[in-house]
Amino acid sequence: MNNVALAGMTLGELEQFLKGMNEQKFRAAQLFAWISRGARSFGEMRDLGLSLRKKLDESSALRSSVVAKIETDRDGAVKLGLLLGGGAAVEAVLLPANGRYTACLSTQAGCPVGCVFCKTGSLGFLRNLSAAEIVEQFLELDALCAGNVSNIVVMGMGEPLLNLEALRKALEIITSPEGRGLSKRRITISTSGIIAGIAELAEKGPDAELALSITTAREDLRGRLIKGAGPVSLRDLKNALVRWQQKHRRRITLETVLLGGINTGGEDAEALVRFARGLRTVVNIIPWNPVEGLSFEGNALVPPAQSETAFFRRQLESAGLNVTCRFRRGRGISGACGQLGALPDTGK
Ligand code: SF4
Repeated sequence: MNNVALAGMTLGELEQFLKGMNEQKFRAAQLFAWISRGARSFGEMRDLGLSLRKKLDESSALRSSVVAKIETDRDGAVKLGLLLGGGAAVEAVLLPANGRYTACLSTQAGCPVGCVFCKTGSLGFLRNLSAAEIVEQFLELDALCAGNVSNIVVMGMGEPLLNLEALRKALEIITSPEGRGLSKRRITISTSGIIAGIAELAEKGPDAELALSITTAREDLRGRLIKGAGPVSLRDLKNALVRWQQKHRRRITLETVLLGGINTGGEDAEALVRFARGLRTVVNIIPWNPVEGLSFEGNALVPPAQSETAFFRRQLESAGLNVTCRFRRGRGISGACGQLGALPDTGK
């Protein structure tokens, strides 16, 4: 029965797997290299030998998900809808910029955190993705640009730090020098602020860049905007970031989704400046990408006016913070930040 997705196995696991078939160790390295190069069938792995290819065909599958939908934006961004086992579905996005390609990967089907401004959050939570399902998103996006993905942002559907084990394994596979060998320094993990997860990242890695979706540093407002995370003490959150930075010595990106009339005022800017004090940060301002039907305490959400964004940015910069404003790639296909969740039909 084809019940093992080999795309989710590390080289060491493949060695064990093939050992169980009485195959030699070097075969695992060949198989791992083929999978990392995006092979879609055992038939094309000519150097494996016919009998091994046959055994693999009978005992396992290369991948566990299927691409059900591909949408391309005028700006070049491509969004994939993938069907997973058990009726789940996720989206992943390829973002081209300046001749480079970034893969935006999902880690959960739905999301338990439920940020009010995020389409994924409005779907509820179905389940964690397996390492194979995360690796497969990468392989599909990499194939779209002839193997030229250079960066990964784990900013798609789901909270990565609530599925850290699978994510760690997936990134180990993608960055393995015997396989695709993507640079670890070109991976960014974005969290809504899972304190235990940040602590675990500090201790055990992966050694990737870290982005925190702070949105607002006014604790009460933040608790109402990022509901499912439960009450999060910003002091504890900051302490976790300080410890992470002591270990990893890298700048932290503070992502701030600006919601018109909600978190764009002087008080919000001051709170963010206080939060950032003592950390090495860059603030990434993201004007909210519209998602129909989302509201906050009875009022429909709206993007910030240009003047609100400009004011907020000025306040931060005049306090000495480094600030960037994220471009809105993928917006035409609902593939921009916070818009993922227009899933392919799962037949349910
Ligand atoms: S912004 Fe991230 S953490 Fe929040 S609901 Fe969306 S996917 Fe989940």
